[in-house]
Amino acid sequence: MFGCDLTHSLVRPLAFFVLLFHHATKQKYVDVVADDIIITASNPKHLTGSSQYNASSSGKKVLVVGGRAAARAASKPALLAPLSGGPVTLEGYGSCCFKGAVADKYLKAQGYDASLLKDLSWPKDEAKAKAVAAALLSWATDNGAKQYSHWFQPMASAGVRHGNAGCLQMAMFDFDEDGVPFPSFSHENLLQGETDGSSYPNGGLRATHTAGGYLSLDPLSPIFIREDTMFIPSCFVSYNGDALDEKTPLHRATEAMSKQGKRLLKLMGYDPEGDLINNIGLEQEIFLTTRSAYYRRPDLQFTGRTVMGKDAARGQELSDHYMAPISRATDAFETMKQIQAECYKIGIPLKTRHREVAPNQYEFAPMFGNVINQIDQNLMVMQIIEEVASENGMAALLHEKPFQGINGSGKHNNWSIGTSTGVNLLNPKQLNKASGNAEIFPVIMAALISAIDKHGDLMRLSIASPGNDFRLGAMEAPPAVMSTYLGPSLTEYLERIKNGEMSEYIPEKKKLSFGAANVPDITVPAEDRNRTSPFPYGGARFEFRAAGSTQNVSLINTCLDSMAAEAFMIVADRIEAGEKPLDIAADLLKQHEKCVFNGNGYDPNWPDEAVKRGVCRIDSGVDAIDQLDSAKNVAMFSSIGVLSEKELKARKSVLLSYYTGVVEMEALTMIDMINQHVIPAVKKSDVGNPDTLHAGVKDIKEALKKIHAEENETKQAQMARSLRLETMIDVRKICDEFEAKVPASLWTLSTYDELLFLDTFPQGI
Ligand code: ADP
Ligand code: MG
Repeated sequence: MFGCDLTHSLVRPLAFFVLLFHHATKQKYVDVVADDIIITASNPKHLTGSSQYNASSSGKKVLVVGGRAAARAASKPALLAPLSGGPVTLEGYGSCCFKGAVADKYLKAQGYDASLLKDLSWPKDEAKAKAVAAALLSWATDNGAKQYSHWFQPMASAGVRHGNAGCLQMAMFDFDEDGVPFPSFSHENLLQGETDGSSYPNGGLRATHTAGGYLSLDPLSPIFIREDTMFIPSCFVSYNGDALDEKTPLHRATEAMSKQGKRLLKLMGYDPEGDLINNIGLEQEIFLTTRSAYYRRPDLQFTGRTVMGKDAARGQELSDHYMAPISRATDAFETMKQIQAECYKIGIPLKTRHREVAPNQYEFAPMFGNVINQIDQNLMVMQIIEEVASENGMAALLHEKPFQGINGSGKHNNWSIGTSTGVNLLNPKQLNKASGNAEIFPVIMAALISAIDKHGDLMRLSIASPGNDFRLGAMEAPPAVMSTYLGPSLTEYLERIKNGEMSEYIPEKKKLSFGAANVPDITVPAEDRNRTSPFPYGGARFEFRAAGSTQNVSLINTCLDSMAAEAFMIVADRIEAGEKPLDIAADLLKQHEKCVFNGNGYDPNWPDEAVKRGVCRIDSGVDAIDQLDSAKNVAMFSSIGVLSEKELKARKSVLLSYYTGVVEMEALTMIDMINQHVIPAVKKSDVGNPDTLHAGVKDIKEALKKIHAEENETKQAQMARSLRLETMIDVRKICDEFEAKVPASLWTLSTYDELLFLDTFPQGI
């Protein structure tokens, strides 16, 4: 608790590290007055004994604190989170992440060095595992960590499990013969763990009497320290080896992609060293609002989205929020800086930060990297965002559609395949140079186009998060039609390949003039950008734009990598059977080019046109999830050893019950809000007859009863979908109409005005 930590003794050290203001103009909450210094925060929650104080008239120096995080950071000067006005510092970057120079020092003391960690087989060698455990214990001790925890990714965690991860934290000590405790952490502790598999969503793979769930360390993802705990990224399976988590199938899929991709490349005369790697970069969009407004919104607290709320008079219609200054006028700036600083400590390269299209919407993006690592880091980014926001008196909303009527949030999944030495197979220039064979690029592109066309259903279901129901198909995220945009020049090139005309693909560039002699011309790609395609190719990567902001994107990349693995396998098989690679590419393009669409994906005619072409279109996320265990998908996933039929059925069951569970929480929250807030306000202000509200509550309750009575999980989820997209939307309209009439002083829920405009409504009120 900040309030307890912040004592007079902290005032002096703090003063060295933070910016001192001679005056502040805003009304602030004040805590400590020591000599000529006072400490203020915009939220009384951050302070011990808060009292209103007009700082500007005091003539004293004012120490502005961002919240509990800033106070905690001040006690660790080397890792100090930057405060208002200070530059973002890279000092301490990666110091809480066990790799590179940090690991080197401790492994050298054990007779090894950090290169040990690069060979992923080290856990299989007992001597090495013992050395790593000893090095970790000493690193943890030096950094104040006294606990360790395997850190894993149960299914169905998005939006309902803070941090999306599972952790069982264990103290690192043992007793000697005299019963005296000493610090202890063995290689057995490090390499494996156990937990109750039946207590996580498991789709019938576990039960209370067959509950074993086992954890194995993931050597691809570095161990990191946060607070007093050392976290060990891990994979999670049942006693029978069935995947119970998001991560295990992703490992299997990347390995399959690498195996089949390397096979194909070798057959075409290119044999790069090491594994092929799926690289991704995840753009994370969020909303920030004040915590006090959030507390007056049961729907945001329980479900992450507003189930009712009249539009604010101002939205995003003037395009005035996108890339607007992240102003110090609100706590959002401090929050964003601290999020970046915390990420740097554990080696997350959060590079980009900006405001997004909707009011109070923000985005972060890291530098891309190995999919396994990136997803672990993204889960931590989401957790850190929530933590830092709360420490600054704010609430972070990660949901895909927290507010009706303005843009929702996504997590664009930028996807490419590279060699271990950094050659990007989707970058023709790099690939041609490294391989010396210009035929490989069109063959890979043809294989990937065939995969998109065959498995659009898998792509669609992988982004069928409940929150995406409100995003997809509208004018803000690509519709539920799975096409790809290649751009005119690549499309024309592949057209020539299809017709048997081989040449090297050299992406064109063009000079762009600004029409003013003093402004220098710049060079840009010949292709324009198309933001309406769900899966556009952008010169060196595909960008899966429909991924939802709350999602753990493991399933998305498990599907993409599996699809790529199967396509590479098919081409490799055909080459081995005697066909020429370019003939196979031409054949695949003929069969599958229908999924290439360079036009406007938001054109209302496109979905129907797509169906006519035979391109995958599944409007309902629930119907898409239902396809996970179709005969086609069972055959595909088992042919490359990624997911068995049993695992697919379990995963489908988990996805369906997660969907239904989310809707049930939304419906129950809406009922409570109507009964406890809307009806009393309507009655008190006497603005109309609340009978329609009572009727709405009845409709929702009846729909829930019917869902409970249904036994088939797919049907349950379909009924839940119509409850939230039809019944609840109708009821919402009634609530919102009443909100427009009730005097502001009698409306007891936070309004969209308060939630969306930090700089208009006084913070902390
Ligand atoms: P955009 O303009 O598309 O929104 P951003 O800069 O916001 O771009 O984000 C692009 C993301 O794509 C970053 O995370 C970046 O690291 C990632 N990225 C760039 N190149 C690749 C690549 N070859 N493979 C995977 N991800 C990539
Ligand atoms: Mg972006």
